[in-house]
Amino acid sequence: MPRIPRAIIDEMVAHARADLPNEACGIVHAREGVPVASYRVKNAAASPYRYLMDPMQQYRLETQRDESGETLFAIYHSHVASEGRPSQTDRRQAFFPPAQDDNDFDRDPAYPGTWYILVSLAEEPPTVRAFQVSRGGIVDEEPIETATLLSVLAAAASLVYRWVRARWPWLFW
Ligand SMILES: [Zn+2]
Repeated sequence: MPRIPRAIIDEMVAHARADLPNEACGIVHAREGVPVASYRVKNAAASPYRYLMDPMQQYRLETQRDESGETLFAIYHSHVASEGRPSQTDRRQAFFPPAQDDNDFDRDPAYPGTWYILVSLAEEPPTVRAFQVSRGGIVDEEPIETATLLSVLAAAASLVYRWVRARWPWLFW
């Protein structure tokens, strides 16, 4: 179950609204598995029906991850008028090169383990849903657990506490 800070959910929805009438897309980075930042990426397709992440911006974010130790947590995009679940095109696009047809899913997706987040503006308030795409083109939805910044910090602090205790147990004698 993906645990996502409320502020990042709000930012993805704000981005979806800002990019109307077109679909919006972007990337969420994590640190130690905790989502820490979301980045708006230009939709190079500039379309209300599909998205194509600007390759240069995507490349820069990849470099940023390599340098900072942050990891790819999620790829998000919006549906301006349809349900918030991956379309057939979205499923195909989760593979690289994109799957040509239903017989072209017998391989790992481009970013295994990465969440695909769909923001749908078809309803008010908008819905935000998370999916995993796996080998075979199988799409699974998992409920999102929203977290406040404080609970995320508390989880991080407890990780640090456990790490320190494991490394220097004598501190706790
Ligand atoms: Zn889509």
